[in-house]
Amino acid sequence: MLFDEFDREVFSAGQEIFTYGDLGDCAYLIEDGAVEVIIAKLGGEHRIKMMGKGELFGEVALIDYQTRTATVRALQRTVLVPIPRKLMEGLLEKSDPVLRHLLLVILERFRNRNEESAAQAQNLMVPPEQSARRKVLQGEATQKLSLAHGMKRALAREEFELYYQPICQLSDGHIAGFEALIRWHHPKDGLIPPNDFLWVAEQTDFIHEIGLWTLERACRDWKTLKKFTHYAKPFFSVNLSVAQLNQVNLVDDVGTIIAAQQVNPEELKLELTETVMVVHPDQALTTMRGLVALGCGLALDDYGAGHSGLTNLQRYPIGTLKIDRIFVDPILDSLQSLEIVRSSVSLAHSLGMNVVAEGIETDGVRAKLLDMKCDFGQGWFFGRPAPLQRTW
Ligand code: C2E
Ligand code: CA
Ligand code: CA
Repeated sequence: MLFDEFDREVFSAGQEIFTYGDLGDCAYLIEDGAVEVIIAKLGGEHRIKMMGKGELFGEVALIDYQTRTATVRALQRTVLVPIPRKLMEGLLEKSDPVLRHLLLVILERFRNRNEESAAQAQNLMVPPEQSARRKVLQGEATQKLSLAHGMKRALAREEFELYYQPICQLSDGHIAGFEALIRWHHPKDGLIPPNDFLWVAEQTDFIHEIGLWTLERACRDWKTLKKFTHYAKPFFSVNLSVAQLNQVNLVDDVGTIIAAQQVNPEELKLELTETVMVVHPDQALTTMRGLVALGCGLALDDYGAGHSGLTNLQRYPIGTLKIDRIFVDPILDSLQSLEIVRSSVSLAHSLGMNVVAEGIETDGVRAKLLDMKCDFGQGWFFGRPAPLQRTW
């Protein structure tokens, strides 16, 4: 579905699409035509593969930031759909880091094999900067895996903290609410962002403990935060992970915490992504109805980064649509992004939802979104996530 949004590139027979050694910033899907993949060997050129309609190429350099491993040329008139790195990065960021790690290991093996044979054939050495970059990538992945061990003790030692990021009305810039975003103050590694450890928690029961801790802390902090809002219906947002949403006790647990902290449930918005509705549609609907019955609002997070259209999600009681940063950020440069955002805003409004644009970094982007009648904005332009002690 996403592919429809990108411009096509047309190549004539014999034209080069990219050359061995080029820096790669996009992969290509062959919509029509055919290409040949060529490597240099013993001073000559060797075709190693031909690819046709529906096949994907150029993805290796896109994922591991290395140079192109081969030359690719059109065999006839060929229409390609480029898949830009920015989109791939957005999707990879949200994927399971174990899979990301495996992907990098597999790519490294693939490159080692190809480069060693190419280097042997030409009597060359693999450039040292390339193997250094690989070591960094592997080191990062291994370090992330080892983090898992310290996480359980971290909760008892109070190493987690919630940061809060303002969500502002686009019409006047006033703060309407805040989103709670978790951080881990690791005794050795310093401040660790949520994407580096939550995936581990997701794969164990620990996500439930950490999720309830987050909700309880955000409810407690809301009394302080609310003073910084300037809006008729102020709110605070808490993220729910897929694993939490599938837990049978979730509605009861949320009800208990809200009651104990004496929070008005209408001021709490729970953010969830469409993954949960795609993977467990019926269970998700039951849980979401239970949360709404408590009085809480629901926000659909990261909209656009997933695969389902908004109309598929109509049956769920969602009051807020949050449009993902990968579409919001480029609206001034990309007509496609602009149109995706514009149509999402108007579709959401017609379904009775309000809209938050994520990742607003400049005044120009803010003004454009206001033009499109988007309701709220969140991003560095309005304020970065910060600890509670900071005065907004
Ligand atoms: P998210 O829910 O999409 O949160 C927004 C992320 O975008 C935050 O990253 C925020 O720091 C970042 N961001 C906000 N404005 C801008 C901007 O203008 N430019 C850029 N480049 N980035 C911006 P963060 O805090 O690293 O959180 C990452 C993700 O981790 C969150 O994405 C959310 O999915 C998850 N997360 C964070 N806290 C929790 C939590 O307590 N529970 C659960 N289940 N997930 C959480
Ligand atoms: Ca969120
Ligand atoms: Ca988001």
